[in-house]
Amino acid sequence: MDNRPISQTGNQGMVLPPERAILASVVSHNPNALVLFDNEQRISLINRAFTVSFGWEEAEMRGKSAAEFSQIMSSGITGGQWPDTLWSKEPCSCELELRKRDGQTLFVQLTGYGLEDDGGNQAGYLISLADISERKLFELKLQETIERYTSLKKYNHDAVISLDLEGRVINYNNVAQRMLGRPVEELVGKDFSPYALVDRIGPILAEAHRDATVERILTGIQHSSGSVCEILASIAPIIINGEITGYYMIAKDISEQKKLLIEKEAAEAMTRAKSEFLAMMSHEIRNPMNGVIGMTRLLLSSPSLEGELREYVELIRKSGHSLLNIVNDVLDFTRLESGKSELNHEPFRLSELTGELLAIQMPNAVQKGLKLEVWNDERIPAQLIGDKSKLSQVLLNLIGNAVKFTDSGSIKVSFRLVEQRGDQLELEGVIEDTGIGISESELPQLFHPFTRLDNYLTRTVEGSGLGLAISRRLVEIMGGKIAVRSVVGEGSTFTFRVVCRAAPLELAAPVRVPQVSENTRPLRVLIGEDNEINQLVIRKMLEKSGHHVVLAANGAEVLEEIRRNNCYDLILLDILMPVMNGMETMQELQALQLDRQPYVIAVTANALKGDREACLAAGMDDYLSKPIRRDMLEQALAKYWASPKNNLTSAIDYGE
Ligand code: ADP
Repeated sequence: MDNRPISQTGNQGMVLPPERAILASVVSHNPNALVLFDNEQRISLINRAFTVSFGWEEAEMRGKSAAEFSQIMSSGITGGQWPDTLWSKEPCSCELELRKRDGQTLFVQLTGYGLEDDGGNQAGYLISLADISERKLFELKLQETIERYTSLKKYNHDAVISLDLEGRVINYNNVAQRMLGRPVEELVGKDFSPYALVDRIGPILAEAHRDATVERILTGIQHSSGSVCEILASIAPIIINGEITGYYMIAKDISEQKKLLIEKEAAEAMTRAKSEFLAMMSHEIRNPMNGVIGMTRLLLSSPSLEGELREYVELIRKSGHSLLNIVNDVLDFTRLESGKSELNHEPFRLSELTGELLAIQMPNAVQKGLKLEVWNDERIPAQLIGDKSKLSQVLLNLIGNAVKFTDSGSIKVSFRLVEQRGDQLELEGVIEDTGIGISESELPQLFHPFTRLDNYLTRTVEGSGLGLAISRRLVEIMGGKIAVRSVVGEGSTFTFRVVCRAAPLELAAPVRVPQVSENTRPLRVLIGEDNEINQLVIRKMLEKSGHHVVLAANGAEVLEEIRRNNCYDLILLDILMPVMNGMETMQELQALQLDRQPYVIAVTANALKGDREACLAAGMDDYLSKPIRRDMLEQALAKYWASPKNNLTSAIDYGE
């Protein structure tokens, strides 16, 4: 054989024997990069594929030693090991990353083998480099996927158990190992059914793949100690080449969640019970309080009560009042917290409302020498529709606090229109005082229930610590928010926003409020009330105004009296009474179809929302909530005089 190297470029123009020409063509067109070394291990030839793949021309490579070649091809590449058996007679093969002329790298499959001539003598060495970059990339991606999957399984917080089609264990992760209390080797190949507490898990796995609800059959995993871990299972098929070859069972330990849920439910039930208890107690306390406050008022109205005794009674009245305020706050708060409070829509005038509320606070402010100012944005329509009573309550709380916690200076109440969209108005109320202020550290807890910033033992002012919590809930129900800014020693500013509507014009006519002075003649009043003290209080109040009172201890007695003598102008009807309650009595009264129906005022300690509506819907004319004060009663009587129903009675002679 001709020992001259075979090279197309190097032998251009030379006429080669046919077999050498074929060989030259094979080398030249070989898709693998070929590098031929001579017996001195110097490059005698590279083919076109080498130049295309690595960028080196033959002229640059020819004559380079094997050491130079490997240095050029692997400069800056760490890791890739050239095979030790290179240059020996034995063929060798390995995968390598090699550098190209432009600095980029290429993954190749290197194959090296010694060449021999016809006589079996060494005739050089050939290195063939096949580009495997694509395959390598694919392998890397596959590796990444496998690692991701393995991590997912290994570090999953849930137990992941792979099972074959019959439900035999293939593998499981550490969480499953802990849940089962058994190493993987112990269960590999074994039926998983007993550990999943079912007869046969295979059919369940197959069915769960079609119908996810079947997963619910798997509710526990048994630990080697015999204990059972409660689980939420999901099943996923293992699909290889389009065929299901097994299943993953993923089991979430829900014992902890269940425990938390039970604790949460218990806490909620406890809160509900507490609220109900508070509401019930408050309600029960209101009734006897009615007696205490009413009786002290009567005592105080007596001119014979003088000196020290008068002071004591005055103290009882004040304490009774404070207690009643607290009870009312608790009732309000529990009602708001139970979500039973609804938003009402009624027409009102903001200027009237702020005026009335300031008038209520005026005596306290005057006593402390405080200035009370009010300013209403003139862009706010005269008549609004909104929840007047909730707004009043918020304002009363905030203005009351401002007066309570300010010893000198002024209190400003202002309202401005923030935004108007159609007839929807957003109003901002600001109550600013020059009082003691609140420290920054105390501001965050201010709107929490039962927050009082002064020490319980050293407190100087009254309060339940519920006012602001109630105000916040009320403002939220009215679609707004409440906030506070304060500087200790300088004062506080409470700001809240609520949503109202502008009232249509026809509602803007002023409502005629009957005046107490219209009460012109003594009335005949029948009182249906079982509580003796309440009977006494109401009777005394009425008698002091010159009215005639007859008492009935329950609804049945009221009816009996009416049947006997239908001469009454008014019936004050307690709702909760033994034998026959107020509602039933009202029904019966209506059924009597009397030629003159008396005016019926419901009297109840049920200060809950909806009671008033229920009484009016039952046909009663008015509603009074206990404890009854004289001014409330007078107001109700004034309304009675304003009602045309009473004209009927004017002809009756009382024989007085
Ligand atoms: P309370 O019915 O006790 O007044 P609130 O919830 O209305 O309950 O108020 C809680 C506490 O916040 C009060 O006890 C008081 O310490 C503080 N506070 C409320 N308003 C003011 C104010 N305008 N200036 C200073 N402190 C206030």
